[in-house]
Amino acid sequence: MKNYTLMQFRNLKSGLAEKGRTTLNDILELTGSEISFNFVPTGGFTPFVHSHKNNEEVCIVLFGNGKLMVDDDEIDITEGDVFKISPNGERAIKAVSDLGFTCIQTKENSLINETKHDGIIKKRKASWI
Ligand code: ZN
Repeated sequence: MKNYTLMQFRNLKSGLAEKGRTTLNDILELTGSEISFNFVPTGGFTPFVHSHKNNEEVCIVLFGNGKLMVDDDEIDITEGDVFKISPNGERAIKAVSDLGFTCIQTKENSLINETKHDGIIKKRKASWI
């Protein structure tokens, strides 16, 4: 059994536009977080406002422009923006232009060992080391 799973969109923008929302949990057999890739066409929006019971969300805008509502704020978002929303944040998103973003959901306060304490340096070498 391999210790990795690979998924490739090849052309990110057309791949996302074709698939719409793609959750990677089953594809990558994730066990600690939910990762989704999302595409909202120009003028599109999530038709509801939502919050979460337990999970914080980190979203990374991959391309396009949009508006993010969190509670009483409306923020312009664009490619390269990264935002975290706490579980109680009441949120909705709208695409001003074709908008692609990835969203990582993780249980708030669940990280017990960040890389500094969880990583293990090995003697093995990659071909480029
Ligand atoms: Zn959510």
